[in-house]
Amino acid sequence: MNPLGLHAMVVTVGGDAAAIGNAAALAAGAGYDLLEFPILDPASLDTRAARGAAEEHGLTLATSLGLDDGTDVSSSQVPIVEAGVRRLLDAVAVSAEAGAEWMCGVLASALGRYAAPPTAAGWANATAALREVADEAARRGVRLGLELVNRYESNLVNTVTDGLRFLDEVGSPNLYLHLDTYHALIEEESLPGAVRLAGDRLGYVHIGQNDRGGLSSGTADLDAFLAELLASGFAGPITFEAFSRAVSDPDLAYRIAIWRSPWTDGAALAAEAHDFLVERLSAAGSTS
Ligand code: MN
Repeated sequence: MNPLGLHAMVVTVGGDAAAIGNAAALAAGAGYDLLEFPILDPASLDTRAARGAAEEHGLTLATSLGLDDGTDVSSSQVPIVEAGVRRLLDAVAVSAEAGAEWMCGVLASALGRYAAPPTAAGWANATAALREVADEAARRGVRLGLELVNRYESNLVNTVTDGLRFLDEVGSPNLYLHLDTYHALIEEESLPGAVRLAGDRLGYVHIGQNDRGGLSSGTADLDAFLAELLASGFAGPITFEAFSRAVSDPDLAYRIAIWRSPWTDGAALAAEAHDFLVERLSAAGSTS
């Protein structure tokens, strides 16, 4: 079975030793194999604590981030692009120091709503930036996942089709597509279709429902999605992601519009999601 991951913000906020220990214990206790730490500010993660907690609980690690207006590598302004490359290289260093196998997220633009489509210069700046960062990440043993997010959270790479074009222009085998069902529901013709289109460029998956809540209710046909993942031979991590104002970093909540608290008990939600994934993956595997 694929490694099953938990986004740390389902159960905790922050990257200090206490938050890390709490998240690692809950993730391992629920049966997860991987824990993903958001590092919007790379310096916020206590890498020694993360590495220690992962070893103690037998977890592998991933990190994720989105850029901001001052570090947007898809900007047409060179100083902003340079600041973005520095931010991404800092994040690679933090990820490597923590022992993370993956660094994912909105790596090629700011995370937030844009008022216009990307420019040709901005696209070129972003592909050049990711080429440099992917090479450095490869040297440090960290794989990069370019997350495909919906049009309200980036203007650059919203679909698998966009993502494949971006990867082709970057030309690095260390840069993969990171598909998220929440975003794909908005931008793709179907969830299984997105998996088929991504093919062997798919590296990392966020699984979440349309309302950012638990997996066992919602409008996304996750059974069809998981069945297609298995059929495609995808062997990468499948990481559960959910958001509630009750458990969220204020900056991230603002940027992805988390205004309500549909759930409050993240530990229970994580445990339920793990059981759901094991049950549905087993069922899909047994019939294929
Ligand atoms: Mn996601």
